[in-house]
Amino acid sequence: MKYFTLNSDTFIWIKKSQVLLYGSNNGNHLLLDLSDGVRSLCEKLIDVSNLYCVSFDDTDEDIVSFINESVSRNLGAVSEESGDNIAIPPLLKVQHDINRVDQDEEDMYFLRYLSSLTIYLGGDCKPNNYHTQIDYPFPSKQTIPLKSVVDFVLENNRNTLSKIKFILPVFDAEQITTLLTDLHDVCHKIEVVIRYTEVLKNRELLTNVAAQIEQVIIICEPDDDVEILEGNFMYNLITRSEMDYEKWLAIVDSKICKYDIVPIYDDNRTFFEKNIQITPDEILASQPSKRMIYIHQTINLFNWGKLYVYPDGSVYSKCGGERIGYITEPLNVLVGRELRANHSWRRTRNFKMCRDCILQFLCPSPALFEYESSDVAMLACKRKCSPTG
Ligand code: SF4
Repeated sequence: MKYFTLNSDTFIWIKKSQVLLYGSNNGNHLLLDLSDGVRSLCEKLIDVSNLYCVSFDDTDEDIVSFINESVSRNLGAVSEESGDNIAIPPLLKVQHDINRVDQDEEDMYFLRYLSSLTIYLGGDCKPNNYHTQIDYPFPSKQTIPLKSVVDFVLENNRNTLSKIKFILPVFDAEQITTLLTDLHDVCHKIEVVIRYTEVLKNRELLTNVAAQIEQVIIICEPDDDVEILEGNFMYNLITRSEMDYEKWLAIVDSKICKYDIVPIYDDNRTFFEKNIQITPDEILASQPSKRMIYIHQTINLFNWGKLYVYPDGSVYSKCGGERIGYITEPLNVLVGRELRANHSWRRTRNFKMCRDCILQFLCPSPALFEYESSDVAMLACKRKCSPTG
């Protein structure tokens, strides 16, 4: 009797008529259409009670060919005896904690997962919905009293909280000076996000502010006549088209300023298809590690650990998502509520199209732009292509 054992770093997935073996230690993969015999063998390999080791029929040509290909790509091995090369997928700690949240939603323990607070200050500004995709101000007649903001931040300042972002719709010198004075002890964690047109109102003060905090992030629109300022600034350059991209490249110089090209999905499907979406072969070539695959299966890397406070004091785990509470509530309760309700932090790649896709957990966590298309058809990948074996 012969046995086939998958390597402990090899993942196996079956979707519809295909099987994919992926070696997370070497990036090798094998993608095949399933015959009946190979399907039956792969289903046994997936059954954890077999511990990745199954006997096989060496008279079935399809099975022998599948196993030979796997062995030649260092995804598994053949032996005369039942192997001891056993792989039991590790559980991320967060999975235990999800069970814990069912017992006590107010457990202080959950605060360790909070990494960033983004606070939208109220005021008037150009309306659009970019805040659901990127850090971007939106207009609001309501404004949280600064004292409530300061109390909330100071009360909840913990080691795991590494970033406190203020999104300013308008540059209000008195407001920003008060905030920085009252939050002096946490200045090194503070980032201020503001549009370029507001920066022009008081460059000197903003340069001064930037010198005291982690950084000032300046959002630039393609129609802004941007001049690069000296100081602790980061430029987020909104890009909706190739023309925008060309314009930014002509202005910025990576030697003298920090910048990010920030694509926005704004009914510009062609631009995204051509420049942002990746092909299945590119996903495979990115060679995600074992740890990264477990993360893809469990949490959303883009959303994890982030909370957002709106100008009316309501709190969200994703901008434009469902409210999880108010800043008047203890933060451990808000975090526990998100962990239980899962509006955002544990939203994995679970779109219908992705559930049927063989690359579901090799693919990156869903990006915010993927939620923007009404039919959720603007996925991370170019769906017209198929991966190659
Ligand atoms: S985005 Fe979805 S459909 Fe596209 S490759 Fe990733 S998992 Fe598959």
